[in-house]
Amino acid sequence: MIASESKTAWSLFLQYVEERCSATEYANWIEPIRDVSPSSDRVVLEVPNIFVQEYLLDNYKKDLQHFLPTTPSGQLSVEFVIAEPKRTAASIPTIDTVPVIDNTSSSTACQLNPLYNFDTFIEGPSNQFVKSAALGVAMRPGRSYNPLFIHGGVGLGKTHLLHAIGHYIRKNQPKARCACITTEGFINDLVDNLRNKTLDKMKKFYRSLDVLLVDDIQFLQNRTNFEEEFCNTFESLIHQNKQIIITSDKPPGQLNLSERLIARMEWGLVANVGIPDLETRVAILQYKAETKGIRIPQTVAFFIAEHIYNNVRQLEGAINRLSAYCRMMGLDVTEETVEKSLSELFQMSPSKKISVEGILKSVATIFGVKVSDLKGESRSKDIAFPRQVAMYMAKELINDSLIKLASSFGGKTHSTLLHAWKKISGQLSQDDILRRQIDMARRNLEA
Ligand code: ADP
Ligand code: MG
Repeated sequence: MIASESKTAWSLFLQYVEERCSATEYANWIEPIRDVSPSSDRVVLEVPNIFVQEYLLDNYKKDLQHFLPTTPSGQLSVEFVIAEPKRTAASIPTIDTVPVIDNTSSSTACQLNPLYNFDTFIEGPSNQFVKSAALGVAMRPGRSYNPLFIHGGVGLGKTHLLHAIGHYIRKNQPKARCACITTEGFINDLVDNLRNKTLDKMKKFYRSLDVLLVDDIQFLQNRTNFEEEFCNTFESLIHQNKQIIITSDKPPGQLNLSERLIARMEWGLVANVGIPDLETRVAILQYKAETKGIRIPQTVAFFIAEHIYNNVRQLEGAINRLSAYCRMMGLDVTEETVEKSLSELFQMSPSKKISVEGILKSVATIFGVKVSDLKGESRSKDIAFPRQVAMYMAKELINDSLIKLASSFGGKTHSTLLHAWKKISGQLSQDDILRRQIDMARRNLEA
């Protein structure tokens, strides 16, 4: 049957994605999508809301093109329909994407990811600060920083920390009324309650909480009507000293939200989750491998961590894939099996050796200076800063001794290099422009 062909293509896609993303990502974003295609040449996907559609296209467009029909010019030929909202009895909150921990009522199940604890969060220089802020808030909700605003790139542990706070409070203050919502969940909830004329109940529910955990506030951008209600809820809770924790892919000031809400979000503490450095990535890899029952030699862990550098979720994906591959083929984990099973995940082809020279050229281009200046002695800020950036990148990307790396910078000492690395690592957590410049320099290296 034709219709079943598209079902097969969709289920193959599902299988493909499931192997590559975290269980939470899959459960939140992929699982809610239904294939409602009437025939194989007309693929129709039903999504619970526009965010899920955008998420799917933003993250998996290329993969979808592999699995699902395309136009002769190679464009994805898929239609999307938004599912009718579920009309539940006017219990609050009404939708199933709102995981609620309401410990005063045993009927509402907690949907915090059980794996996202403080204990399972590996610390390093890039996330130590944000982790201790999260722990501080969890220990003394409403009495330390309020709100706590956590921002950082995709797959760096924001949701993990948010849920860790939820678990901690649930365990240590079982009476506290604590809800964890995704921003899209809040919007859907609001839409449903407006429709059902139960807005007052919803307001009452949110405003009676002791702790509100809000994931991915960036989805509130350009949704003015919803923003106002969110802002009111926010103010009401903060005025009662109730704790709010928010995550976002950008710092408050860069969000396209009203000045009022941005100012509120900056009231408390704004903390960044940065990209983990090489050693932390290795520690995360080893930890994840251990939980899967596989042993990865240290050299191999370094090899993987050098190639997958800006997303912890991808590191997890790598471990899953590697362990499946080695089990299936009955092989040990070695550099060779890693290259065979992971090469397409690697952000740089393993055969392409990164050199200090390459880094110097790339950094020189981005900052508009000469390679010879970077290797020289000039202490002028225009030269010294890009030099420190290049040193930071060299330590991050090349697994050589500091002495050897430093000598490639026109004979600098290893302590100069280490100092540069520390300075840039520290600055990275607060400086988005610098982060972008380094990303660009990295991409140049790949090209
Ligand atoms: P984000 O919300 O920032 O996109 P997540 O919190 O979903 O990222 O993290 C992606 C995956 O990486 C999760 O499975 C999470 O457990 C894992 N992860 C991220 N950072 C760490 C860390 N420091 N230690 C252990 N696991 C981590
Ligand atoms: Mg997240």
